[in-house]
Amino acid sequence: MSIEDIKDYVARNRARHEQELADWVGVPSVSATGEGMPEATAHAKGLLAASGLAPRVVETGGWPLVTGHAAGPEGGPHVVIYGHYDVQPPGPLDQWDSPPFEAAIRDGRMYGRGTGDNKGQHLAQLLAVRALLASDEGLPCSVTVLLDGEEEIGSPHLAATLAGMRTDLDADVALWSDGPVHDSYEPTVLLGVRGVVSFEITVRGADSPLHSGNWGNVAANPAWELVWLLSTMRAPDGRILIEGHDAGTTALTTAERAALDALPMAPQELLAGVGLDRMDAYGDAEVNERLALPTFAINSLTCLDDQEHLPVIPSVAIARCDMRLACGQRAATVVDAVREHVAARLPHAEVVFGAAMEPSRTLPDAPYAQAVLDGVSATADKPALLAPAMGGSLPIAGITDGLGLPCYGIPLANVDERNHAPNENFELSRFHEGIVTAAAVLRSIGGTK
Ligand SMILES: [Zn+2]
Repeated sequence: MSIEDIKDYVARNRARHEQELADWVGVPSVSATGEGMPEATAHAKGLLAASGLAPRVVETGGWPLVTGHAAGPEGGPHVVIYGHYDVQPPGPLDQWDSPPFEAAIRDGRMYGRGTGDNKGQHLAQLLAVRALLASDEGLPCSVTVLLDGEEEIGSPHLAATLAGMRTDLDADVALWSDGPVHDSYEPTVLLGVRGVVSFEITVRGADSPLHSGNWGNVAANPAWELVWLLSTMRAPDGRILIEGHDAGTTALTTAERAALDALPMAPQELLAGVGLDRMDAYGDAEVNERLALPTFAINSLTCLDDQEHLPVIPSVAIARCDMRLACGQRAATVVDAVREHVAARLPHAEVVFGAAMEPSRTLPDAPYAQAVLDGVSATADKPALLAPAMGGSLPIAGITDGLGLPCYGIPLANVDERNHAPNENFELSRFHEGIVTAAAVLRSIGGTK
């Protein structure tokens, strides 16, 4: 089956594929609240079966993992494909132009929660398997699909579940499609992801807000205490000052550095696109390198729910933060470092940690890197680029570190997919092309062993 044959197959089945995506988006699957999860698990199982994969629901202790397997030629490579069927909560409903769990097509895009993150992207992978199974040559490699039901809540059970499935997952290479394509829209294969640790720091003062004249200089001000504490955690030049947070961090290899340098970069355009005229203070590192390095972000700062300006000393101040972890950093080490840093400076501050994920790294010269690049390049009709790390996070350390597989990301969604936000969408042309890309990559991997 040539690329042209796959394109024909996709063109013939456009309406059916779009209907399948719309039906999938129509099943809510909010792991954070549980909304729709049992139905979604069953629907995921049905989609795997309809794509020619033998499905299985694997209990994890949380929301199940749904897997599907299809055998390829004897002795051929075994590919693991990771995706997730849970979605983020819809957020403010009045900011959606159409209901989040009713797929709507406008201007060539399908709107709805999960269109891009991640139902449309793993459905493209499944439809690629279906297309190849329908071809005269059949599937060029064995495929095991893993659909995680807990990605949006940090995949707390995934690594342990995969460790228990080692025999089934005795594979050669892993793939995933998630997140948007590179800002430049150049075809890009991702080699890794940053990890993440999130936490909330709460500083409490008096029982209720106090008059700032009657109590100023007398009552401790939790907002000032919190601001001062935060200023001890990151320097004005961007250096993270939390001792020990970066233990284990490994330098980029020459090949990773070369891959980073080859990525297109247009910082001014990038910033202008989001209404900014300045970059974060972070030494002199280039944009692409910044996206591979550790971060410390304040996500929000709050004192009172009331937005009015009141002359008070607030009773509580809260900072919500996250840190993205670079290669070699460990979530548990970062958690300990933050806890110790806060305890040593402001012992009455409370720190509560949320979801965490480990970083994952695959090197540019790892097995099958060229095969994956070739598959993506063949569909795009130009050479694909390698990006050493994606800015965001995915729980694929369970695959790279846990199962020892090289792992490649092939993001399919448009840059403005608005994942996690109202009006999430997926350009349908990208969905259909994504099926072709996924099939071309499997074919390319199948031809290399
Ligand atoms: Zn997401």
